[in-house]
Amino acid sequence: MEALHISNSLTRRKEKFQPLNPPFVGMYVCGPTVYSNVHLGNVRTFLTFDIVYRYLQLLNFKVRYVRNITDVGHLTGDTDDGEDKIGKKARLENLEPMEVVQQYTNDFHDVMDLFNILRPSIEPTATGHIVEQIESIKKILANGYAYEVNGSVYFNVRKFSEDHPYGELSGRKIDELMNNTRELDGQSEKRDPLDFALWKAANSSHLMQWPSPWGQGFPGWHLECSVMSTKYLGEKFDIHGGGMDLKFPHHECEIAQNIGATGCDCPVNYWMHGNMLTVNGRKMAKSEGNGFTPEELVTGNHKLLDKGYSPMTVRFFMLMGHYASTLDFSNEALQAAEKGLSKLEKAMETLSKLNPSAGEGTFDVESFENKCRAAMNDDFNTPILIATLF
Ligand SMILES: [Zn+2]
Repeated sequence: MEALHISNSLTRRKEKFQPLNPPFVGMYVCGPTVYSNVHLGNVRTFLTFDIVYRYLQLLNFKVRYVRNITDVGHLTGDTDDGEDKIGKKARLENLEPMEVVQQYTNDFHDVMDLFNILRPSIEPTATGHIVEQIESIKKILANGYAYEVNGSVYFNVRKFSEDHPYGELSGRKIDELMNNTRELDGQSEKRDPLDFALWKAANSSHLMQWPSPWGQGFPGWHLECSVMSTKYLGEKFDIHGGGMDLKFPHHECEIAQNIGATGCDCPVNYWMHGNMLTVNGRKMAKSEGNGFTPEELVTGNHKLLDKGYSPMTVRFFMLMGHYASTLDFSNEALQAAEKGLSKLEKAMETLSKLNPSAGEGTFDVESFENKCRAAMNDDFNTPILIATLF
């Protein structure tokens, strides 16, 4: 049987999985920004890496799984000039930012539990790693890949790209990026529109801010993942995962920061990206009115739902699609999943009541198990695995 192979988003090839220090495996997955309730698209991403985590353990790897909580620095519009998403929520609802963080972290954990998604080994927060982020910025500055303006520090993409590849993960070429990016208006402090913030100066009204060598401020969104992944998994580690929408700019910036700080040319060996959930062919999004909350799904209380579905039906439904493909959410597909799951559950129940007969059976258990493992070894192919079970 073939060993485990993973589709690597960085090389765009399916590659044999070889951990750096077997039997140990280090895996980092970008977690939620805790300013609103998670929706089902998020659940699909975390379910994908739940399967990866569980399967690696089944293969007897000792996995350190780090999944962060973003509780500062993620600005509205995913830009460098928006308002902090958590700070905004706190301002509008007259709460402490940490109350917002706690409320939605609790919600996130409840939803993960509902779908039987295992907790990671470490769940670090951005606000818990301000010191490390400042240290990392100092290194990037010392290596010449960042510059300071008015108390903010920006990553110098053009300078970095002279020495290292930039855009490999997302398949973007720096010249095209330069041409396609809006010209900076006179207000911007950046030398180049491609540059991104490592540290942003904060005025006195900004809710979350810390002292730094550049004055009071807060870290840029991309930096926390570079810092927390390398702190717990090393300068070079095995697997980095996240949703497809994070490939650019978030993950591209992460790679540049890691290389810019440590000089390690390939900080992550395998990049994995989970694809999105669509509803009747359209992307699931709050603005489209088709982003179910887990609660609506269970109660069936949503105009697009014929009825409620159990969390395990939804989990099973999601596994009927391969993580790297889009998955379309429809009542028909969910009802098919419900039937399939119930059939499997009945079979499990029957199996538990059977007494094995003496002597040789006609069913070849070993070859059946091998088929199941072969499906999973082929880039965690859960739809083939499920087909094998029927
Ligand atoms: Zn991240």
